[in-house]
Amino acid sequence: MRFALHNDLRIEAEPGAQGRCPGCNAELVAKCGTKRVWHWAHKGERHCDHWWENETQWHRGWKNRFPADWQEIAGRDKDGELHIADVKTPSGLVVEFQHSYLKPQEARKRTEFHQPMIWIVDGMRRKTDKRQFDNAVSDGIRHPTKDALVNQIWVSDSRLLKEWVQVGVIVAFDFGTETVWLLRRIKGEWVYGFEYLKRKLVENITEGTLVPDVQFITPKVPDVLFGTPKRQAMRYRRRRARL
Ligand SMILES: [Zn+2]
Repeated sequence: MRFALHNDLRIEAEPGAQGRCPGCNAELVAKCGTKRVWHWAHKGERHCDHWWENETQWHRGWKNRFPADWQEIAGRDKDGELHIADVKTPSGLVVEFQHSYLKPQEARKRTEFHQPMIWIVDGMRRKTDKRQFDNAVSDGIRHPTKDALVNQIWVSDSRLLKEWVQVGVIVAFDFGTETVWLLRRIKGEWVYGFEYLKRKLVENITEGTLVPDVQFITPKVPDVLFGTPKRQAMRYRRRRARL
């Protein structure tokens, strides 16, 4: 973990520092080696939150796009089990960063606990994912809209999609560029999504504004539109007025 409690303050790990777990209050050990990012660990390696994933630089990089006060927020589920959200905004939106493989049913369970939430998934962990996903995009259907290029992709073409398509909330694949690929809508065996600037996504989360969506409208005009529902409705009315 990045933070431990010391005299009611959240402090970061540094050599010789002492602190307690914000979740279970156990005494933690400051791990300050050269291989992994400096962090706090439970004695005996067992984390009190069994959902906790060992942190990578990728996790830290994402967490640090948000205020420190929003990071690592502990909560309990209905059975009293403890879970620590990577990021939780004051309005209650949770953002979880997932590097390692997560079984789809496990992802759904966690989603249910954290809702409302957004998943940000490391698309660079497995070497083949990026290439496979790029191929899926180029084999898919492109819907150019005013704001973005919406991609319609066959789910079975991408292992990442197959793993994440059923969580029912926004999922962002991070392939290590300035943008993420947002999985936004599912229709049968197809998913609809688009590339979106990380900066914008962070802004949406931080300011509590809507992440752009893909909406389906009655055809004649293109069958998908991009933007917030309100803007889409406006554009659609305008377009209809011209017909
Ligand atoms: Zn603990």
